[in-house]
Amino acid sequence: MTQTMTFALNRSVSPVSEADRAQVLADPGFGRVFTDHMVTITWTKELGWHDAQVRARAPFQIDPACAVLHYAQEIFEGMKAYRTESDDGAKGLALFRPYENAARFNSSAERMAMPTLPEADFVAAVEALVEIDKEWIPQGEGSLYLRPFMFADEAFLGVRPAHKYIFCVIASPVGAYFKGGAKPVKVWVSSDYTRAAQGGTGAAKCGGNYAASLIAQAEASRQDCDQVLFLDAAEHKWIEELGGMNIFFVLDDGSLMTPPLGTILPGITRKSIMQLARDEGITVTERKYSFDEFEADARSGRVREVFVCGTAAVIASVGEMRHAGGAFAIGNGETGALTESLRNRLVGLQKGKGSDPHGWRHTLG
Ligand SMILES: *Cc1c(COP(=O)(O)O)cnc(C)c1O
Repeated sequence: MTQTMTFALNRSVSPVSEADRAQVLADPGFGRVFTDHMVTITWTKELGWHDAQVRARAPFQIDPACAVLHYAQEIFEGMKAYRTESDDGAKGLALFRPYENAARFNSSAERMAMPTLPEADFVAAVEALVEIDKEWIPQGEGSLYLRPFMFADEAFLGVRPAHKYIFCVIASPVGAYFKGGAKPVKVWVSSDYTRAAQGGTGAAKCGGNYAASLIAQAEASRQDCDQVLFLDAAEHKWIEELGGMNIFFVLDDGSLMTPPLGTILPGITRKSIMQLARDEGITVTERKYSFDEFEADARSGRVREVFVCGTAAVIASVGEMRHAGGAFAIGNGETGALTESLRNRLVGLQKGKGSDPHGWRHTLG
């Protein structure tokens, strides 16, 4: 067994009442309400990681010169805790592949010149928060969205990696991600903006990437689209991903295709879908795919289905693409059969149904 940090426990003295919580859980939305507690761990150059606590959720006091406010040294993760019910009716709680989040968090940390946190401590921190706030996990469709993050907390305006960081985990009960249910989404292709370049931070889960994507997302909204698709920065030709989701194409030979890693975020949902598809004998290729080729393939019927994926939304089918030069539908604009079956298999796995051949369900005591 790996030795993990010990978390001091300071329970909230004013937790939300059971009645108020029940009301919130009836329709939590996404990312608007939070649980009673948070986990914090401090890192300093002198002491390394120390002062691990599970404590009442409260604002941070940060200095106006705090490094993160100026130079954006900040990374995060997104994961969920689920109420599970196995095929034989046994109930429990589970995380999904939390060590994948821990490993990715550390890759992001390295890219942003921040300290890494031992994977077992990352997972222990998440588990500790779920344990104390488990009453906040919604029943049914919902789940408890977990947001581990780390930021530079040094009051210093010189440009170099900070000497102090705070790692924190907060939790937010969530319902369905897309308003209007599992309706296929409309995706806008940005012709003016890109999210990542070779050698940049595209593969790191950092707040800065999101800041840079918001103007394009706003443009998508103006075009009556739900999401924005980014093309590569060098040639503005190759499909990369959305602001916060990876993309897959289902071809008419039954195979699945997705852009290769490099400048995109290595999604855990992406990786899981590739494995689940291969388990079922489906060919999965990672290859560069130009937007022009995609449009021609969608119009000819070679592309049958398109879906986007990530922890928050799981899998959403794409019904229509729009860009400055026009618009086109994918298939008949409805959710395709493979998209549907992969979604059901993945959601089922997360919620305790079906076999778990790769040991992805991380059950909680
Ligand atoms: C988090 C994220 C994803 C999805 O990753 P998952 O591990 O599947 O949740 C995709 N793209 C970007 C840019 C992201 O930040």
